[in-house]
Amino acid sequence: MLYTSTRDKSIKVSSAEAIAHGISKEGGLFVPESIPQISMDDIVRLSKLDYIGRAKEILSLYLTDFSAEELDACVNGAYGEGKFSSEKVSPLHTLTEGTEILELWKGPTCAFKDMALQLLPHLLTVASSKSAPDKEIVILVATSGDTGKAALEGFKDVKNTRILVFYPNDGVSPMQKLQMTTQEGSNVGVCAIEGNFDDAQSGVKKIFTDKAVAAKLEEKGMMFSSANSINWGRLVPQIVYYVSAYCDMLEKDAINAGDEINVVVPTGNFGNILAAYYAKEMGVPMKKLICASNANNVLTDFLKTGNYNRVRDFYTTISPSMDILISSNLERLLFLLSDMDDALVRDWMNSLSAEGKYSVNEAVFAKLTALFDAGCCDDEGTQACIAKTFKENSYLCDTHTAVAVSVYDDYKAVTGDATPTVIASTANPYKFSKAVLDAVHPGMSEGMDEFDMVLGLKVETGEECPPQLANLKGKTPRFTGCCKKEDMEQVVFDMLK
Ligand SMILES: *Cc1c(COP(=O)(O)O)cnc(C)c1O
Repeated sequence: MLYTSTRDKSIKVSSAEAIAHGISKEGGLFVPESIPQISMDDIVRLSKLDYIGRAKEILSLYLTDFSAEELDACVNGAYGEGKFSSEKVSPLHTLTEGTEILELWKGPTCAFKDMALQLLPHLLTVASSKSAPDKEIVILVATSGDTGKAALEGFKDVKNTRILVFYPNDGVSPMQKLQMTTQEGSNVGVCAIEGNFDDAQSGVKKIFTDKAVAAKLEEKGMMFSSANSINWGRLVPQIVYYVSAYCDMLEKDAINAGDEINVVVPTGNFGNILAAYYAKEMGVPMKKLICASNANNVLTDFLKTGNYNRVRDFYTTISPSMDILISSNLERLLFLLSDMDDALVRDWMNSLSAEGKYSVNEAVFAKLTALFDAGCCDDEGTQACIAKTFKENSYLCDTHTAVAVSVYDDYKAVTGDATPTVIASTANPYKFSKAVLDAVHPGMSEGMDEFDMVLGLKVETGEECPPQLANLKGKTPRFTGCCKKEDMEQVVFDMLK
């Protein structure tokens, strides 16, 4: 299996190269040249395996230049004994009959990013030993909150790697900030920036593609790679849990083999839902992929009109990991839906960076409409949904998951579609204690600090706070810097000194 770039189809690299480099040199994203297929018999067979067994098989179809032994070591290192607090790694929770919540936050940082970022360092270490031996890998991350911590935790003290995380100073929750600024490890750095997530992401992308910067790193025997969801090594682990969710639905008799399911995904950078699309194209029977957004509803508008327009107000919401106006992974979908038309994708992406917008053609729009549905939900709707879901279904959602639940409720009301549905749940509610507490008990958080709220939420709901969050209480931050976006490159070189 070779990989090509969304902006230059003549490029062909191995999966190891795609993962080691993160992004293609002309700015395109790596995608596999074809999508491997699995049959219903395969899926039924996979349903008898545990998560690790399923992961090894699915990953081996994409990472064909990794040996079976290498993949075994990677997958066991990521999802083996003690890494995730659920034996099933990504368990299903029945919300109501026919609606399953796919809990993707049982990993070390309580966010779904762990699903990919526990595996990525292992993949990257193997990949770079194949494609760039002797180089030290420098990971730069722009984060809207969860990626940063999950990447730091995944890469901490991994040999031959350094990691530096940039986050928007006012764009992450206090718990997220504390998780990052107290990070341990000898190869890690964390810096806030004055700006929003898109500023952080564009800054990182600029440093990545700057030839002079690359040359300076080369002199030091280093090279950049990316732990953002533009890296194929971030995306491919996510395909596994959609296949696995279908297997688990079979196992609990929620569906029969061959039945279609809908998938609802709270979306930001479009990585998670793109993984669902790959699973569908591999052969997992799926009817609609429902893209849920918060008040930053650029994707809702896009999927309903075919016009992408980031020139709009940016809102800081209570679901900060979805406060994004440029959804990078959409580029991969556009490449696939335009039958790998790299020239078209280049035009659209040039127009996006020059004018902030583009419109897809009719053929691509028709495919988008057939595959996707979309909806959005503001902060008020999110909190109303948290309260309702807790009251009616005794289930406490975080703010991101609640956006998806709310959008799915709207979808069902409008369409009457009763297809069994999986809703991706992307964070533990204690990562966003204030917003969740305000939803279940309005006014209670007044005057409380973060850890009072954790206690309050426990008293109100009876839900336990995961120890890795509760134990942050009283820890002193290690990283307190905040820079302007123009100074990000300087911060990188200061860290690499
Ligand atoms: C990253 C994140 C999302 C958005 O996922 P994308 O793959 O960027 O679309 C949603 N919820 C949470 C909690 C996240 O951390």
